[in-house]
Amino acid sequence: MTLSDSPAAQVRAACSAAADAAPAWAALPLARRAALLRGLADALQSARDALVPLADEETHLGPARLTGELDRTCFQLRGFADQVDAGAPQPVQHDAAIPGSPPAGRPQLTRVRVPVGPVAMFAASNFPFAFSVLGGDTASALAAGCTVVVKAHPGHPRLSHALADIASACIAAQQLPVGLLQMVQGWSVEVGLALVRDPAIHAAAFTGSVRGGVALWREANARPRPIPFYGELGSINPVVALPEALARQGEALATQLAGSIALGCGQFCTSPGLLIVRDDDSGQGFVRQLTQALADTTPHAMLNTSIRAGFNAGVARLHGRAGVKTLLAAPARGVAPGPHLFATNAAGFLADTALHDEVFGPACLVVSVRDLQETLAVLQAVQGSLTVTLWGADDDTADNRRLVRAAQAIAGRVLFSGVPTGVAITAAQQHGGPWPSSTNAFSTSVGPAAMERFQRPVALQDAPVWLLDARGQA
Ligand code: NAP
Repeated sequence: MTLSDSPAAQVRAACSAAADAAPAWAALPLARRAALLRGLADALQSARDALVPLADEETHLGPARLTGELDRTCFQLRGFADQVDAGAPQPVQHDAAIPGSPPAGRPQLTRVRVPVGPVAMFAASNFPFAFSVLGGDTASALAAGCTVVVKAHPGHPRLSHALADIASACIAAQQLPVGLLQMVQGWSVEVGLALVRDPAIHAAAFTGSVRGGVALWREANARPRPIPFYGELGSINPVVALPEALARQGEALATQLAGSIALGCGQFCTSPGLLIVRDDDSGQGFVRQLTQALADTTPHAMLNTSIRAGFNAGVARLHGRAGVKTLLAAPARGVAPGPHLFATNAAGFLADTALHDEVFGPACLVVSVRDLQETLAVLQAVQGSLTVTLWGADDDTADNRRLVRAAQAIAGRVLFSGVPTGVAITAAQQHGGPWPSSTNAFSTSVGPAAMERFQRPVALQDAPVWLLDARGQA
């Protein structure tokens, strides 16, 4: 298709091709699926020297970070290929027939999972490789046996084109249908809306803002036939620093936390945006150390001017707000913003819901609490987060159990050491938390289980032998 086509025509053509290719892709032997995923990883790796500078030009994330992210993307693609080779997309749960009437007797039942059909994928601005055209959402949908239409992010259009070209060449080389993986883009929200509305699309995956994600989630649910919408949205990732941890290693933790707040200029969905600390000498000392450590960081330029404008508006909202003290407002260095640190107390945080919103960038809000009760109340007010970090909850005490329960109630991942930035790609990972951090807290967008978002369970009753031999895949 050409860029002169209207957005609606582009999207319709891509969805139609994705629908045409879907049955053939779902029916191909798993070895072909794995071969494509490995081919994409190899092609991506071979093009690294051209792609990383292009990504840097468009995102300012720096060659080191982008090289690491490209490697991570290849690791994801190969990881899903290994999963496909191991038969993970076609799990089978089999119950033999038992003669007699129900409930003791039963027919033979076999539960399988089938690909849902074409998936709409919204690339993220802050992960130009790992959550973009060939990122984790695309890899997991392809591994699940689904075709994919990617909505490119306008923040890295030339990189997206280069990645789509790599994908097309790889698909052609393996003699697979063009409709298997395609890309659409445009400068109007109409492209994304048309994609989610298209009747050929059966599921959508998204990483981005709460506003954009919720708009598309509403659209997905307003369709005559609603579809699942897996959105990873904003998250403030509370860190609870208990006195036990601060007494042991306060200074090291302050440096580590400052590094995490400033990492990637704070443009991570897991960036720690809220520190909960006791209002005592050790807590106040830790906040002083954190202020100094954060002042010593040197964030780089942000992804684009609109994300920078969003950061400026976010910190402006906190400066001078009733009940909020500015601890650090480091000046911008050229195009790079300065890190910011704000402080309030539990009562202030609970009373002002504007303080619960993510400020995307190198900023954090310290909430001082008098006791466990206030800590629990602050966590509860957060409602939904990708992560909660608990430092100093190592002993089995009634208080720590209550803290863990409160953290589990609002987060998809609970950490007991380290910082929330850096998401390991592994089977035990859970990247997705209660609303508003995700639109579906029951799934993960990182790790092999991400594939399950794009498959639907089907029970086969008294199925013929040929179908069981094919693991339920007709
Ligand atoms: P975004 O504005 O949510 O955009 C992401 C994608 O959704 C883009 O392709 C965009 O399309 C589309 N979109 C946005 N609003 C839409 C709407 N109302 N209807 C249809 N499509 C829509 O995210 P962003 O551009 O990456 O960043 C903006 C803000 O999002 C940041 O400042 C930050 O606050 C937040 N963010 C958070 C995370 C996180 O992981 N928590 C990650 C990235 C961004 P078009 O722009 O092409 O129309």
